[in-house]
Amino acid sequence: MNEMLNQRIQAVQIGKDITHAQLVAKRNLREELETEMEKYLARGGQIKQVEQKQYEARHGTNTQYTNMGCRCKKCHAWALKAKKVKTGEIRL
Ligand SMILES: [Zn+2]
Repeated sequence: MNEMLNQRIQAVQIGKDITHAQLVAKRNLREELETEMEKYLARGGQIKQVEQKQYEARHGTNTQYTNMGCRCKKCHAWALKAKKVKTGEIRL
């Protein structure tokens, strides 16, 4: 009985150790990254923000209808023409 309890306590402690080790590893990595970033900036490096292109929906195309699952009037009309659907009703 006592041995089982000891085993459980050990297991929990091992788990804690792993978590703590992971925490330290993460912190080290973050510090390393920051140091590298400072070095990079000190050398005259620049940080460019990646421009995020907004997604433009192209209604009335296969991509929009099939991949994006758009069921707007324009896409539905395309689907009818492309014989993707047989009904004129728009199902939502
Ligand atoms: Zn559409």
